[in-house]
Amino acid sequence: MTTPVSQPRRVERLVQGRATSDGDGVKLTRVLTHELQLRLDPFLMLDAFGSDEAADYIGGFPSHPHRGFETITYMIAGRMRHKDSAGHEGLLEDGGVQWMTAGRGVIHSELPEQEEGRMEGFQLWLNLPGRDKLCEPWYQDFPASAIPEVVTETATVRVIAGEHAGVKGAMQRDATQPLYLDVHLAPGASLAQALPEGHHAFVYVYRGSLGIAGTEVARQRMAILAQQAGSDGVVLQAGTEPTRALLIAGRPLREPIAQYGPFVMNTQQEIFQAVEDFRAGRLA
Ligand code: MN
Repeated sequence: MTTPVSQPRRVERLVQGRATSDGDGVKLTRVLTHELQLRLDPFLMLDAFGSDEAADYIGGFPSHPHRGFETITYMIAGRMRHKDSAGHEGLLEDGGVQWMTAGRGVIHSELPEQEEGRMEGFQLWLNLPGRDKLCEPWYQDFPASAIPEVVTETATVRVIAGEHAGVKGAMQRDATQPLYLDVHLAPGASLAQALPEGHHAFVYVYRGSLGIAGTEVARQRMAILAQQAGSDGVVLQAGTEPTRALLIAGRPLREPIAQYGPFVMNTQQEIFQAVEDFRAGRLA
């Protein structure tokens, strides 16, 4: 089922996320931080959240703006409702994905629709090329049943974006060609995935552990995959426990990145404009 890989990438570096909070006191781990934006271009941020304690998530993310990039929210467990200022709303539940292209601007809220129980998931920020940063805002909710899966005896791969073993994911993007896989492996099982040579790639382990080309990657660690000349993919090998990990890759945009909080543009001037447009009510 899997694509053969003859020159697998090695791990360049292991990263431990930084505990922080965002929104109205939501506890989370920032796995892909600001300092890694050039190294992992076109990805700007990855937050992991997961708690059984309502106090860690109940405040959610009240009304806030975005401009210039895309947010991809993947719920592992829990219920989160989003509403935007243009009147769109949707409910994100276990296994579902929201793909939002902020483009020229949205103002939205992301609030838990539960008062107890587990809330777990990820939010990934994917950059837009300069020519698309002011495009019309767009989003789509994918319930769990709309995410294609490749199932074998020892692995389940949920294909959120890109392609695995000939199965196309829920989303494709021309400029950044993102690959976003949620890989579930039985103990000891392995999985190969083709990766274009120049694409930036990383793996985040959230259950169990992985071996990647001889490097052990523990739970809650991100492995940045090396940019090796001649490499054609990556091989993930589960440890002794059932293992789950995100495998994310994309084509770098190689453009300047100017960020001010929820605005990501190419220049400082465009950031000033975003702030001014937000203050003047032109983002809604
Ligand atoms: Mn948001």
